[in-house]
Amino acid sequence: MDLLKEIQTQLAGLAGELTALRRQFHQYPELSHQEERTAGVVAQYLQDLGLNVQTGIAGHGVVGTLRGSRPGRVVAYRADMDALPLTEKVKTSWRSRVPGVMHACGHDFHLSIALVTARLLSNLKDRLAGEFRFIFQPAEEGPPRGEVSGARGMVAAGVLDNPPVAAILGLHVAPNLDVGHIRYGPEVVMAGADRVILTITGKAAHGATPHRGVDPILVSAQVLTQIQGFLAQKIDARHPVVLTFGSISGGTRFNILAEKVTLEGSFRYLEDAVRQEVLAGLKKQLAGWSQATGAKIELSAQPIYPILKNDPQLSQQAVAALRSLLGAKRLKLHQPAMGSEDFSYFAAQAPAFYFFLGVRTPGAQGQALHSPEFAPDEAALPWGLRAAAGLLAALSEPEFILPQMVGGASPTRG
Ligand SMILES: [Zn+2]
Ligand SMILES: [Zn+2]
Repeated sequence: MDLLKEIQTQLAGLAGELTALRRQFHQYPELSHQEERTAGVVAQYLQDLGLNVQTGIAGHGVVGTLRGSRPGRVVAYRADMDALPLTEKVKTSWRSRVPGVMHACGHDFHLSIALVTARLLSNLKDRLAGEFRFIFQPAEEGPPRGEVSGARGMVAAGVLDNPPVAAILGLHVAPNLDVGHIRYGPEVVMAGADRVILTITGKAAHGATPHRGVDPILVSAQVLTQIQGFLAQKIDARHPVVLTFGSISGGTRFNILAEKVTLEGSFRYLEDAVRQEVLAGLKKQLAGWSQATGAKIELSAQPIYPILKNDPQLSQQAVAALRSLLGAKRLKLHQPAMGSEDFSYFAAQAPAFYFFLGVRTPGAQGQALHSPEFAPDEAALPWGLRAAAGLLAALSEPEFILPQMVGGASPTRG
């Protein structure tokens, strides 16, 4: 498949554009569901390439469709567009020009790679099979309260239908992985997450006479340690779960027992059956603790993100293609992580492959996503383009054909 040689040839000419686009997005970051300017740049770029473009989907979502010249499969590629409420500490000439907002999760990388992938594939469209659907979603970083996450909204708007996609791909930058490397998970990639609310209702009384009331602050202290004990000893240690509380509130005055304490937390799991087991077990325990303390204890859990699972068969094909595109030594196996990502809504609807692109300068200290000091290495951009364009071109063929190695390591044939 000398098509991949052509992709390789194109890469050199597109490196400058990758960097320029990334820096431009970096300077004008926008918060979740406010990605108006970003979506405008994306739509214009795709229109200029001659793609069929739809805008305003689930907020500022954009979809661009590119058709190959031969029949094949419909393959989608997703990029997220939103930034975070952080004040950037990195001092570059392309640092954020919007006070208090920063692309600290690498979505500026995702945008640039997706757009230039669309350019590269449209340059080669006479040689390509199938259809490419570029999905640019708003609000990945947890939407404002009362609004729906971008992926969920776009799935509901039907972006994976008519005709249905055979595969959807997504990429995220990884600050703890060297540039030129890719990490992938064969199946479970990231945790499912619930927002948990624990309410403990006691009985107010004078602070001097606690025996006349029920102190929900004391009960909450007991219940919190009981919950961690339950997770550690009643759930099989081979099934990871995390339940942490990030906020607690209750009471009005130092010398009055509070009436009610409310805690909000985050519950994460890698299997739906384990989620059920934990919630059912906890509810049973809470009933007992309620009886023992005299406080009313209620627990509710709202699923926020499904578990992010790659399709095992698509994963095998994608990994075989990546091995050919980049060489086996650039691929690392990903252990399921307890973080979550709303790409899981796409993955719940269509066969998906989500992978990580290394953005750490080799030898440098690792950095963290969502940090005001996040400064990914732009040398990663061409690697992301190579992986995305190569995967899309390979997977849109009517039959999966293992692409031949381009450049470097020993060829793999299949
Ligand atoms: Zn993020
Ligand atoms: Zn992100």
